[in-house]
Amino acid sequence: MRKKIIAGNWKMNTDINSGLELAKTINESLKNLVFNSKEYGVVIAPPFTHLYAVSKVIDNKFIQLSAQNIADNEKGAFTGEVSVDMIKSAGATATILGHSERRTYYGENSSTLSKKLNLAIKNNILPIFCIGEILAEREKEIHFNVVEKQVSEVLFNLTVEDFSKVVIAYEPVWAIGTGKVATPEQAQEMHEFIRNLIEKKYSKNIAQYTTILYGGSCSPSNAEGLFSKPDIDGGLIGGASLKAEDFLKLIEIRLKH
Ligand code: PEP
Repeated sequence: MRKKIIAGNWKMNTDINSGLELAKTINESLKNLVFNSKEYGVVIAPPFTHLYAVSKVIDNKFIQLSAQNIADNEKGAFTGEVSVDMIKSAGATATILGHSERRTYYGENSSTLSKKLNLAIKNNILPIFCIGEILAEREKEIHFNVVEKQVSEVLFNLTVEDFSKVVIAYEPVWAIGTGKVATPEQAQEMHEFIRNLIEKKYSKNIAQYTTILYGGSCSPSNAEGLFSKPDIDGGLIGGASLKAEDFLKLIEIRLKH
């Protein structure tokens, strides 16, 4: 069965000291929670600068360490970029890719994202691939077309074997950091749509095996409704992942369903 995951995207928040404190607190509290790590996963994605130090204070039996991005080239004259090899040597085993903030502020598109995705997979780094429509697209009722395009232009170029190594995060852009969460029905409808696309492209088996996370103002106050939906396998959490208490509550809610 597919894995249920709670992933924390710290974005450009915390310094090394506060980031280490947050990671240690999450790590210590997880030791008291009994869960099968084949069925449930916890991921944290601190800034690049923290990865190595955080890797030393977490137990990778409980927590998977993720970057928030990787470069679209392997190495060379790309000032300011961080390669997949670098995050790997800093202890990360996953990376977020295609977050809407990267797409909007740094011009990431399907062609850059395809390169990044292939590099991550080639290096055994779990990609958490983000997709989602902006508000105007939902208002024009073209959100399904937008998501289908994002999925098919990048993910559907993968072989079935490589596709099975990807986690998808559906994040309606209008819900990210806005406090305006999608209703469980809106999220479920899109997750089911994405799963059906995967079934048509690959197979029912692969569709059932793919983890699809919801992201966008998810918090302990709204997670019950979201996580109880059949196609919502967990969450990519921004704001609420910066407070250990909220992040742990989200993990507990996920473990209940
Ligand atoms: C995100 O950054 O992926 C996210 C979902 O942020 P927030 O939870 O703050 O909306």
